[in-house]
Amino acid sequence: MILILGSGVTGKSVANYCEKHSLDYTFDETSDYRVVVKSPGIKYNNRIVVEALKKGIEVISDIELAYRLHKAYYIGITGTNGKTTVVSLIKHIFEVNNIDCEAVGNIGNPIFDHLDKKILIIELSSFQLLGIKEFKPNIALITNISRAHMDYHDSYEEYINAKHRIHMNMEKDNVFVNSNMNSDLKSYNDKVIEFESSLIGEHNKENMLAAYTVAKCYGLEPEKIKAAIKTFKGLEHRIEEFIPNVFNDSKATNPVSMLKAIETLDDELTLICGGQNRHEDFSVLIPVINKIKQVICYGETKNILVDFFSKHSVNVLGVNTLTQAVQITKLIKEHNQILFSPGCSSFDQFKSYRDRGKKFKKLFVQNMY
Ligand code: ADP
Repeated sequence: MILILGSGVTGKSVANYCEKHSLDYTFDETSDYRVVVKSPGIKYNNRIVVEALKKGIEVISDIELAYRLHKAYYIGITGTNGKTTVVSLIKHIFEVNNIDCEAVGNIGNPIFDHLDKKILIIELSSFQLLGIKEFKPNIALITNISRAHMDYHDSYEEYINAKHRIHMNMEKDNVFVNSNMNSDLKSYNDKVIEFESSLIGEHNKENMLAAYTVAKCYGLEPEKIKAAIKTFKGLEHRIEEFIPNVFNDSKATNPVSMLKAIETLDDELTLICGGQNRHEDFSVLIPVINKIKQVICYGETKNILVDFFSKHSVNVLGVNTLTQAVQITKLIKEHNQILFSPGCSSFDQFKSYRDRGKKFKKLFVQNMY
């Protein structure tokens, strides 16, 4: 009997599959279960998890269970930033080349809804990787690693170790690409690769090279991969220019992704940022701080950001909500580019980064300027 812990989209998809395939499962912790399938959001200090582990009962993620039940070609992608972009790019490259596949996992598409596919491209968070045991992808890639999710992990070292679990079971015929180590990407590509693409920013060049390398390791021809990359449109909420010179980067949930957006855009930038306080280190922004003309910040991190930017002589104003931040921004007459790159998680005031990004766009479009 499988105990499904968590009844959100992941838990429900596991239950549906079990139902269809006559596998015994329960959501009831008082049942006599032999394995626990834990949703990524549930922490390891959860009472039921602690009790199960004490009794020697396995606690695994849905990815691990899927791997044990379904034989497929698995491509695993993890890292701090760029996972969804790289996973979506790989899916796009495969589909343009008529290769049937699905992008699943942390991208918001449960793996158990797609166990009919022969190729699964899985976006893996560090939380999901803590719940794998036998999972052995044919190709694995780490995009990059920087300090994040310090509210979940006990230390940075533990976070790094969690990411590296992606290749712990791999054997000689599997490919592990550590995109965090540029040398690794170079060793898979014998020359500098240039891409034609509408994606902006140096970080997206890294993402394209990462997706290209995976597709090449799979066996696709370089020219076909490049042609497919050319037709990939950027994703919503990632430096998305929804009005000329106004960018929604709501998916920037940590300071490094915020840094990449600032690097990508012009000088004299107006920046809107802030959100849930996860004790992030904003000092990574120092090298690009001169590009910012003014900052309007809001949310739980408002005071931290006001202190940080004023210490570095940047004009900064703190308000309580995103609505107020947008209202203030609209009152400023002189703008070059406007960037909403929160650099923080959304959960202090929103359901998700999607919810936050949509709200930002709506607020901005209402009455325009
Ligand atoms: P993830 O799925 O890892 O959160 P996304 O592709 O959704 O990654 O991008 C999240 C945020 O990180 C966006 O703000 C995006 O602009 C930024 N980003 C994308 N790729 C990279 C990268 N290679 N390095 C740093 N930041 C990146």
